[in-house]
Amino acid sequence: MYCNNCEAQNPESSSFCNKCGSSLTGQNPSVQPGVPIGPARKIDGLAIVSMVLGIVSFLPPFVVCSIPAIVMGAVSLNHIKKEPTLEGRGMATAGLIGGSMALVIYICLIIIFLIFALTTTTTSSAVSVSANSGRLLF
Ligand SMILES: [Zn+2]
Repeated sequence: MYCNNCEAQNPESSSFCNKCGSSLTGQNPSVQPGVPIGPARKIDGLAIVSMVLGIVSFLPPFVVCSIPAIVMGAVSLNHIKKEPTLEGRGMATAGLIGGSMALVIYICLIIIFLIFALTTTTTSSAVSVSANSGRLLF
């Protein structure tokens, strides 16, 4: 049995290549023959954590997760940049963007809330002032 990855010959019974360790039995339709792939594609753990935190941070009780999601996403992208064999670029980007979006959304909500609160206070005090001046006139 020949390895699809490195063309090394292996015993018929073996399910993994002796030379490169890739699976001999498992079909991988996304891998085109002749396209070289790394012997061990590893997903950066930080990328996974970042993506999960990025998704979770959209839930109101977990807004704080957006900050570690952004940090881990950035760190993971840096890892992947240095080590091209590492996978999880998409996940790290998702975590980074998701975390940033959640943070921006919640900051906007806080600003809107503050503006609303200030406007309401101003309006109600203006009303009470005019009510008082009305009382003074009569
Ligand atoms: Zn092989």
